[in-house]
Amino acid sequence: MTKQFLEMPDKDGYFGEYGGQIIPPELKAVMDDINDAYEKVSQTEAFQTELHDLYADYVGRPSPIFFAKRLTAQQNGARIFLKREDLNHTGAHKINHCLGEALLAKHMGKTKVLAETGAGQHGVALATACALVGIDCEIHMGEIDIKKEHPNVTKMKILGCKLISVSRGTKTLKDAVDSAFEEYLQDPVNFFYAIGSVVGPHPFPKMVRDFQSIVGIEAREQFQQKEGCLPDYLLACVGGGSNSIGLFSAFLDDENVEMIGIEPAGKGLDTPDNAATLTLGSKGSIHGFECYNLQDQDGMPLPVYSIASGLDYPGVGPQHCYLKDIERVKYETIDDKECLDAFMQLSRLEGIIPALESAHAVAYAMKLAKKLPKEKTILVNLSGRGDKDADFVAEYLSL
Ligand SMILES: *Cc1c(COP(=O)(O)O)cnc(C)c1O
Repeated sequence: MTKQFLEMPDKDGYFGEYGGQIIPPELKAVMDDINDAYEKVSQTEAFQTELHDLYADYVGRPSPIFFAKRLTAQQNGARIFLKREDLNHTGAHKINHCLGEALLAKHMGKTKVLAETGAGQHGVALATACALVGIDCEIHMGEIDIKKEHPNVTKMKILGCKLISVSRGTKTLKDAVDSAFEEYLQDPVNFFYAIGSVVGPHPFPKMVRDFQSIVGIEAREQFQQKEGCLPDYLLACVGGGSNSIGLFSAFLDDENVEMIGIEPAGKGLDTPDNAATLTLGSKGSIHGFECYNLQDQDGMPLPVYSIASGLDYPGVGPQHCYLKDIERVKYETIDDKECLDAFMQLSRLEGIIPALESAHAVAYAMKLAKKLPKEKTILVNLSGRGDKDADFVAEYLSL
């Protein structure tokens, strides 16, 4: 990151006009505490060494960069490369920040790590990190999601976390957030709320970005070594925005590197069934911070949808909002149908089954590659593997 970008957010947690702490004063004190501990602990050699040893020996970092030769040949244009976060232990990029958060909680002497989960991806990654670090973990999940996401629920149980079934309201993610947060407020001094993306009140957007920045730092060096230059384009899917900011952060200074974040158009931008927050949203606040939002007239979050459950969030990380406004990063969309097509193409041309989230970025890469000359290069962050989606897709497409 350039100095200019490294210095963001400011001391109040703002990236331009986005971010901050839109929370009650007593909670602000707790967040400031986390920020102070993070600034202190994360800079120590002991913490950095522990984290980087775990990245190497536990997660399996660095994740490789793979040239997708047959996918490239099919587009007959720019060359497509994949940053293989799908090869990480637990199958996605989320382990990068969950390890950071669990280690920080441990170093701060917290007694319990808490979080909500929707499809269970954040829950599994966090339960994994907490098992490893040796700290209690409690995950709140809607009753409906518990029924739907069987493999992840089983994994969380095996990993030893306390799973709380939330049976109120929508019985899905929204009420799981409220439930987990109420528990957190019982004892915020001793509990640690582990947010699952670059969202929430300061310092979480900064902290999670820093933990994910390993993706971009590695990719920059690997690509240079492989190709003797930097990629022309970086692509990544955007839900809350953690895997994308992780990749982008190391290249923000490189003027010739174009970056595009891909949002889910779901069933179409002209239907209510999408989650294209940066594309269609307006400024507002959600879950303790300011960002672009998909909201109704009264500022209430709209129900959002994507075939990839990891992308259906009505807010988005504050740094992305800022990067959109200053036009350093562009944001485009891919719909469910294009996503499914890319899911199948990557599986059958490269033998890599991507997560439906990541397939959004692959789909855009295929479209973009066709329009570019062959000497251009595109690096896609393949944020996760598609084991979790395989049964769903097979049934959906009647395979
Ligand atoms: C959760 C998830 C995402 C979306 O989250 P970001 O914070 O936007 O990265 C993307 N890909 C995979 C595989 C996920 O599990």
